[in-house]
Amino acid sequence: MSAAWLQSEVFFFTGIFFLLFSILFYYTKTYYLSRACNKCGKEFAYSETREPSIINRYASIATIISYHKCKYCGHEHEETINLVAASEIY
Ligand SMILES: [Zn+2]
Repeated sequence: MSAAWLQSEVFFFTGIFFLLFSILFYYTKTYYLSRACNKCGKEFAYSETREPSIINRYASIATIISYHKCKYCGHEHEETINLVAASEIY
């Protein structure tokens, strides 16, 4: 086991760690942003007003629209998520 090999291994795992951390941070951030009201800025203000709509635009892409309403100021907010079927990625 050479020192260079060990070093590349350390860099590899550090890289993986930072990648996972940034993904986690990204999702946590978008989660918090999506839950904070756009109008009054209060966190965890939105509650779903009705069942999300699922629109199949193409065979492999589904668009999900969820509807939220702020319980403090009544601001209504729509959230659009595009899901691409896994078979298209691989
Ligand atoms: Zn609000």
